[in-house]
Amino acid sequence: MRIDEARDRARELDGADPLADRRGLFDIPEGTLYFDGNSLGPLTHRSRETLTRALEHEWRVRLIRSWNEDWLAMPARIGDAIAPLIGAAPGTVIVCDNTSINLQKALSAAVTLRPGRRTIVVDVDNFPTDIYIAASVAERHGLELVAVPADEMVSRIGPDTAVVTATHVDYRSARILDAATITAAAHAAGALMVWDLAHTAGAVPIDLAGLDADFAVGCGYKYLNGGPGAPAFIYAAPRHLDVASHPLQGWWGHAEPFAFEVDYRPAPGIARFLTGTANVLSMKALEGALEAFAGLSMDAVRAKSTALTGLFVDLAEEHLVPRGFRLASPREAALRGSHVALGHPGGRALVDTLATRDVIADFRPPDLLRFGFSALYNRFSDVVALVDLLAESP
Ligand SMILES: *Cc1c(COP(=O)(O)O)cnc(C)c1O
Repeated sequence: MRIDEARDRARELDGADPLADRRGLFDIPEGTLYFDGNSLGPLTHRSRETLTRALEHEWRVRLIRSWNEDWLAMPARIGDAIAPLIGAAPGTVIVCDNTSINLQKALSAAVTLRPGRRTIVVDVDNFPTDIYIAASVAERHGLELVAVPADEMVSRIGPDTAVVTATHVDYRSARILDAATITAAAHAAGALMVWDLAHTAGAVPIDLAGLDADFAVGCGYKYLNGGPGAPAFIYAAPRHLDVASHPLQGWWGHAEPFAFEVDYRPAPGIARFLTGTANVLSMKALEGALEAFAGLSMDAVRAKSTALTGLFVDLAEEHLVPRGFRLASPREAALRGSHVALGHPGGRALVDTLATRDVIADFRPPDLLRFGFSALYNRFSDVVALVDLLAESP
């Protein structure tokens, strides 16, 4: 398809897009083409409103009364708003801390539930923080870390495995791992499964309850658009809620925080994964942003996401591969998350040049340009404009 034909096709697709109205919920600067929702989702009008109200009314006027009036309930309430996006039941997800801390808690809880076993199996291509955290948990529990490529994980799971952990959508290639097969292999060996949903939540459907996953964690600031430093979430399967323990036992995870008891007693349920005081303002922004998903099924989000990335992949193969770019994401839509990576030896400089023209993507070593496509605000015409710009570059 020539670029001018693609432009016409994109106009048709945008005209018929059932999610087209969602873009108006976002405050994306005029003239900016944004392809980095996989790193930082853009500002929603609702986030600005919820934050402003939190400042001007809840903090300024209501002052400390706001804890009881609203703030104490936020971690569980926002957890319940995220739950349907990841196939989790109410009361099994809570919002707190960051992804790294939540992974530390989830992995610690998981290995403690599997005493006597000797290894943690991790995807060696996982985001580095996940590997650092898994290494730290392994070291503290006297376990061996088995870090292997995703395709070797299943064959390395055995009777000695305590926990298996991986990220559902690879942060570089956007490859989707086979969550059902890996989770089933962990369980067949008597091990527990901890999923990282950093590039899944808000972009790719997953059914945590159906998968029977043990624990999961994920980010608030990527496809959930919660803002810079938005709190993360943690999920625990119902069977673990009242038995799991982790080392960061703080007063917010206590059964009765305001009894100020000397001895720690974990809260019943998912609240035991809280540590200390909630980041209220960050949570306000996240809670406002989540309204953009109201009434949307993740299947509808996924359908548009694969259409966006599919159009980009088709046009890239035709117009960019002959100019020295290489497709570094799966060609098959079913295996591809919501971003597309292209390899190019001048990748870093290209991303910088695009940014000077208000076209925002990001770069990951060694040579990958990453383009995130969000079903909530990216248009098909944005995809064509991006390919057009890349095709002009040296
Ligand atoms: C983005 C990302 C993180 C970020 O972790 P933070 O602790 O929130 O900074 C962790 N893991 C994966 C797989 C990610 O993609």
